[in-house]
Amino acid sequence: MTRAIQVLLLSLLINAHFVNASTKAFIYPEYDNIFVNDLANLLSTETEERIKEYLQEVEASGTQISLLTVSSLSAYNAGPSIEPFATALFNHWGVGDAARNDGVLILIARSDRKMRIELGSGYPAFWNKEVKHVIDDAFIPYFKQDKYEAGIEHGVLETIHTITGKYPDSESGIIASAIRFFKNLWNQLGFWILAIALLIAGVIMKLLRHVWRMRPRSCHVCQQKMIRLDEQTDDEHIDGGQRLEEYLQSVDYDVWQCQNCQSIDIYRYVSFFTDYQTCPQCRYKTVSVDTTILEPATTSYSGLKQLDYECRQCDFTDTETRTIPRKSKSSSSGGSSFGGGSSSGGGASGSW
Ligand SMILES: [Zn+2]
Ligand SMILES: [Zn+2]
Repeated sequence: MTRAIQVLLLSLLINAHFVNASTKAFIYPEYDNIFVNDLANLLSTETEERIKEYLQEVEASGTQISLLTVSSLSAYNAGPSIEPFATALFNHWGVGDAARNDGVLILIARSDRKMRIELGSGYPAFWNKEVKHVIDDAFIPYFKQDKYEAGIEHGVLETIHTITGKYPDSESGIIASAIRFFKNLWNQLGFWILAIALLIAGVIMKLLRHVWRMRPRSCHVCQQKMIRLDEQTDDEHIDGGQRLEEYLQSVDYDVWQCQNCQSIDIYRYVSFFTDYQTCPQCRYKTVSVDTTILEPATTSYSGLKQLDYECRQCDFTDTETRTIPRKSKSSSSGGSSFGGGSSSGGGASGSW
């Protein structure tokens, strides 16, 4: 072999080694939420939601546990061993509280047939053995039978039990599953249930009030039976402001008259649903409110609106400006980001 070829081969070898080393950098998957990222699609939507609820509950009590499934480690420039990637990803995401370092990352690589429970550096070494038991006894027996969904749910519950000392409330039992059922129903149909309930409540209230309004009554002067006058006749007994209230449908008046001594009782029924307000000047419920948005509220700034009041009965008018509260950001209550925790490689692995 000539020297030139030797140099060429050597440089290729160094170069190849160099290239290989640089492509070794892991690719980190983006997370959708901090609880479950089922990138290998091993879970049905229902099971995924259930596991999220368990982990949300655990997070509410202070510990972040995150589940990630991937199809293969190689897609992330990782493997064949799962440990370096699990540790690096744990630290990249920052699982768990930054001060306590109590995060847990459950990583399952399906086609590599490997999994790892990576622990934050706050867990003393004896925890490695504890989570090894969870892997061997709760996850792997299912995985060996290709029952990934059941194995993951069972394993996550056992992980929670091992780490926190108890199972999440929403674990099992008739009451828990009933609660879950209604929670799901509420999530899907909440608005309609509320709307229909309000409608039914409104109809019942109206009915009850009608019965109450029409109840027979006797005269407090002569104790004889009274009759309710019809709308035309009762107008003669109420004043202009009251007639306007009836016209605006903010208040309804009933006039009862004794058939014996002709004495009059007037009853006032304020409407459940009216936009009119009581006038501070003439006391009739005849003030209309007109709202003008001066500056709409955003998620960063509160807005401003102008309210114009005008009484239809008297000359009362008023104007005021009010702030509109800042819009709240999409309400994913807590659990939207990792706490910045780190791992120094603690935990346990298994394969099947
Ligand atoms: Zn009477
Ligand atoms: Zn008025």
